[in-house]
Amino acid sequence: MVQKLNLKSDLGNSLRSIMERDPAFRSVAYFSMEIGLRESIPTYSGGLGVLAGDILKSAGDLGVPMVAITLLYKKGYFIQSFDQNGWQQEKPTQWNPARELTQLPNRVSITLQGREIQLSVWCYEYIGLTGFPLPIYFLDSDIEPNHPDDRKLTWHLYGGDDRYRLLQEFILGVGGLRMLRDLGYGNIETYHLNEGHAGFLTLELMREMGYYDVDKIRDKVVFTTHTPVPAGHDSFSFGLIESVFPKDALDTIHRMMPDKSHVDMTYLGLNFSRYVNGVAKKHAEVSNKMFNMDTVDWVTNGVHPGTWISPGMRQLFNTWIPGWEIDPTRLVMVLSIPHKKIWDAHQASKMRLFARVLEVTGRQLDPNVLTLGFARRAATYKRADLLFSDMKRFKEVLETGKVQFLFAGKAHPKDDGGKKLLQRIIQVSKEIGKEIPIVFIENYNMDIASLLVQGVDVWLNNPIRPREASGTSGMKCTFNGIMNFSVLDGWWIEGWIEGVTGWSIGPEPSEDDLINYDESQDAVDLYNKLEKKIIPTYYNNREKWIEMMQYTIALNASFFNTARVVREYCEKAYNVDFRGV
Ligand SMILES: *Cc1c(COP(=O)(O)O)cnc(C)c1O
Repeated sequence: MVQKLNLKSDLGNSLRSIMERDPAFRSVAYFSMEIGLRESIPTYSGGLGVLAGDILKSAGDLGVPMVAITLLYKKGYFIQSFDQNGWQQEKPTQWNPARELTQLPNRVSITLQGREIQLSVWCYEYIGLTGFPLPIYFLDSDIEPNHPDDRKLTWHLYGGDDRYRLLQEFILGVGGLRMLRDLGYGNIETYHLNEGHAGFLTLELMREMGYYDVDKIRDKVVFTTHTPVPAGHDSFSFGLIESVFPKDALDTIHRMMPDKSHVDMTYLGLNFSRYVNGVAKKHAEVSNKMFNMDTVDWVTNGVHPGTWISPGMRQLFNTWIPGWEIDPTRLVMVLSIPHKKIWDAHQASKMRLFARVLEVTGRQLDPNVLTLGFARRAATYKRADLLFSDMKRFKEVLETGKVQFLFAGKAHPKDDGGKKLLQRIIQVSKEIGKEIPIVFIENYNMDIASLLVQGVDVWLNNPIRPREASGTSGMKCTFNGIMNFSVLDGWWIEGWIEGVTGWSIGPEPSEDDLINYDESQDAVDLYNKLEKKIIPTYYNNREKWIEMMQYTIALNASFFNTARVVREYCEKAYNVDFRGV
């Protein structure tokens, strides 16, 4: 009887789902200072958090027995606006966790600055493509009976001073593990530190064991580093730590870091993990050199297919490449989709983007004009203004009407250098915006990001090398057939085939990049390629352009996705089996 068969498989499924909801089933715990799942949960500031969210979604899609933990950040990151001088203004984000997450009754306590702090927890359950649940927990100190100052500790992401940051990192590492235990996660075999911020987790593991054994800790921890520059690594003086930590944690950290004046979170990660990786091949090389090691492996980053694909491309892929979303390697088949269908899907995304631009800026852009996008954190090393470094040449190349530019990006509230960059872009757009449309979209976030990576024609990226550990916004573009035009750094070294998947800017990377790389060459190359290659191909050889779109999807999107990333982590770092697809 047909019904009997159905009943059986339903029963199988529900048993499976009960097992998957049992905390004892989970063997990997992912710790991240920020996690970006979607715009309505503003607990991220940029690439690190969005990557964490994308990885967790793919882990859910693939059925990896994982759980994740972060902080709640009730005030989010910030909302960006500008004053009359083009200077960035910041307002706290208002969001209502109760609308997005479920608060659980669990409570754990930790001691900081001599006071007991109770922690509460909120849960978001991501349901993967095959129905597999992946829980993500957000720690919250804003509850009774905590001291008013302690209640603010989980309000702001990157909002306070060193002390605030140190307290937050203790909450994440130590409070995070205590909370997982309270929630019933007793069989975790791998703790994944996404960047060094959660390194104090090792203290709590040591306390749980009841004795000091570095090798035992190392057996349980894996660490991903994201920062290719020494200044980017969190470091706290022992003076500060002594004024904050409880006695037992202090004794342990002194033992873990003998002869050190500072606690360097990256050092914790590197020395107390069984596996360490960077986020692109080049980044692993740079890290090995920087840390004087030879064991830093790499797992090149990716992006979550379903999160960044445009509605039009999704529909096209669903029709022509069934199963692409859970297994993006299938995207190699994109070469068989007719050019016109790809172009139509692309133009639809471009029009969606331009509708938003009109709505928020009042500026009408032309969907038949080549459009370049540049959006990322306005950190100075990302050189958002490289394009404007030679205004004479800039105007010469971009004769009226040939190219339009869209910019977006937030500067860190304390980064005046980044704010100056934004001011300059806004200034230039006012000065020459009539001849060459340059539009700045305020308040870059996941929502704006997705419109941009789906709707421009070319994605520009020109950081100072080798500062971009990986970069992920360019990968989001590849799913939408948008070519990268980028300095050879981070992931692009691996994804770049000149004139096929996009174009390079500046010289090819070499061994001595770090010391003497000629930055002035980048701007010259940028103008030349735009003039001689990109503009002519777009306007005079549309078939070649669409072929490049196909190669971008087939060769880049098929690899630079988190389905592949999560499989790699499972094999190399976690040693876990997963449900698979
Ligand atoms: C993807 C994303 C980033 C990271 O982009 P990069 O290219 O790595 O700089 C930052 N912010 C938002 C909102 C994003 O969606």
